[in-house]
Amino acid sequence: MTDHATSPTCLARPLPGPGDSPGGCAAARGVDGRPLHAAALKFFWGPMDCGKSTMALQMNYNHSRQGRRGLVTTRIDRSLGPQVTTRIGLAHEAIEVTDELDLRALVRDTWAEGVRVDYLICDEASFYSVEHVEQMAELVDGYDVDVYAFGLATDFRSCLFPAVQRLFELADEVARIQVEVLCWCGREGLLNARVVDGRVVREGAQVVIGDTVDTAEVRYQVLCRRHYRAGELGPRR
Ligand SMILES: [Zn+2]
Repeated sequence: MTDHATSPTCLARPLPGPGDSPGGCAAARGVDGRPLHAAALKFFWGPMDCGKSTMALQMNYNHSRQGRRGLVTTRIDRSLGPQVTTRIGLAHEAIEVTDELDLRALVRDTWAEGVRVDYLICDEASFYSVEHVEQMAELVDGYDVDVYAFGLATDFRSCLFPAVQRLFELADEVARIQVEVLCWCGREGLLNARVVDGRVVREGAQVVIGDTVDTAEVRYQVLCRRHYRAGELGPRR
């Protein structure tokens, strides 16, 4: 007698269970039956303009070339419309992350459409909620989906974003992006100053959309720690 399951099947790597026979080479499994070398949550951080979005898109490209399927998400990108854009002109469609969006549901819904999801690329992760980071961890541990997050570490007050604090606490790997952005003095830029009317401000909402050009009402400028603390913006560009 054939008894075809009518429950929805997902196309992801099968979750282990009793009698589960995924086929192919058997991965080494821990005492809980889960793969020992499974997915990972990685967070890459750096100041503005250090190439985070470029690296995010490059990583997406590298993985897709190997036949893996992923989703790209972003929040409050500089451009209008949900896409990841980079300072050097690359762009990629992306899913806009809202407070209401559950990343686990996003993956499940995609699976339900018959589309595999091997990994998530989460750009602008500093602006996600702490709950989103918990969801990322669960995607890794419970769904075997890799999550690669990219973002600023600190806000304009030089304090960690809440989501970033959680990423530092939970991620398997945290890496500083090694593309240096220089302060006007030539030292390595570390902190993102918010500039209003030509002055560095240290109070206000944590997220205010600005730009990096001099003419913008609110703009951001990467400074070394010395000049961030002194509030010195250097000669006008
Ligand atoms: Zn400096």
